[in-house]
Amino acid sequence: MNYQDCIREIPDFPKKGILFKDITPIFKNPEAFHNLIEDLYNKVKELDFDYIAGIEARGFLVGVPLALKMNKGFIPIRKKGKLPGEVIRAEYELEYGSNTLEMHKDAFEPGSKILIIDDLLATGGTVSASIEMIENLNGQVAGLAFILELTFLNGRERLSKFPVISLIKD
Ligand code: AMP
Repeated sequence: MNYQDCIREIPDFPKKGILFKDITPIFKNPEAFHNLIEDLYNKVKELDFDYIAGIEARGFLVGVPLALKMNKGFIPIRKKGKLPGEVIRAEYELEYGSNTLEMHKDAFEPGSKILIIDDLLATGGTVSASIEMIENLNGQVAGLAFILELTFLNGRERLSKFPVISLIKD
């Protein structure tokens, strides 16, 4: 089964007017899950990076298997208050509200090259907050990868400094 056929749309979640792209059926189907990770691998394999940073929570679902396949370390970017060590913090606006992300200050060695992964690119606010933290910790953002890109929100425009990879454009 293709992972593209395992994404369903749920209207008015988490609030009215948002058409939520639900990727959970991909992970229920081993063939779709496998195809997804293979496709991502083929798109990012030319990039030069040391670590994959995944954004909580759906960025973990794709970032962890990809990191394992590529023999790279995985770094979690989490919502406020979840990481136990000393953290760096960035606030961001969502398509539906605002939020705070955190990373451990010692998550990687200064100068490391990092590929950031999330499930979906909408306005680009979430990934921009992640870029800000990585750059403040003297990391180098090697690229940004997503399963889905909502092109009508123009998130890619504010990310033009970086290679942006998305498997499905909507
Ligand atoms: P943004 O910061 O606007 O690029 O939003 C991207 C983040 O919000 C990602 O972590 C997505 O998981 C989530 N998100 C935003 N819009 C949607 C949507 N329509 N369907 C599913 N997830 C979304």
